[in-house]
Amino acid sequence: MSNESVRVVLVNTTHPGNIGAVARAMKNMGQSELVLVAPRSFPDEQAVWRSVGAADILENATVVETLAEAVADCHFIVGTSARGRRIPWPTLDPRACARQVLERRNSGQQVALVFGREDRGLTNEELQICNLHLHIPSHEDYTSLNLAMAVQVVCYELRMLALEGSLSSDAQSEWDAPFATAENVERYLEHLEQTLIEIGFLDPVAPRQLMTRLRRLYGRMNLDEMELNILRGILTETQKSLHKSSTAK
Ligand code: SAH
Repeated sequence: MSNESVRVVLVNTTHPGNIGAVARAMKNMGQSELVLVAPRSFPDEQAVWRSVGAADILENATVVETLAEAVADCHFIVGTSARGRRIPWPTLDPRACARQVLERRNSGQQVALVFGREDRGLTNEELQICNLHLHIPSHEDYTSLNLAMAVQVVCYELRMLALEGSLSSDAQSEWDAPFATAENVERYLEHLEQTLIEIGFLDPVAPRQLMTRLRRLYGRMNLDEMELNILRGILTETQKSLHKSSTAK
């Protein structure tokens, strides 16, 4: 695995031809790991036809049911979007994003780039699983690119930066604990939500944007497993002392 290799995740792709074109774009740029979340039709001969010399990427592609499954073991998730969202999220263009991605890869992190549906892109919920958003600065008269073209642009910037070789390969490799995976961060956020309800800080009837804001906060932090364990420990003790005081009454 070279240091710029990432997982490309396509969510609910409608046209198999686009999947083939994505495989070609990936292989042209030296990428190989493709994960498809509930594609409408796959395998499909239209995909093979459009992939031309990249049919091997399709053969090795993994199909899963949910985005959470596709990124469970990832440490850094980039969601791509053609438009702005209600709650602003850290957002970069492909060049700036490539820099962050390579830095993460150099410290041994698994990175996923997530691309949405042809007609509706990614849902807010899916975008909120992501640590960072990537927007290709397209013209405001027509902001959305074809799916495979978007993959091409993003993978091209990664390749250009890798070829430049300006990032030293051990930029951040010294760290004393493994970085937290998306799956463990999700589990922590569920535990946090439950605890916030128990202590009366979060009203499940009117949750507002509290969990979204907390999700964005933790997503910016690049947590490691040790830090996540500390946070989980604090929640567990909070719950214990809450139950103790409620049974003491
Ligand atoms: N109408 C949809 C556009 C979907 S285009 C929307 O508003 O989101 C299909 C996918 O291509 C998007 O989900 C995204 O992954 C990618 N894409 C298209 N244009 C993009 C852009 N300008 N910046 C980043 N990703 C883009």
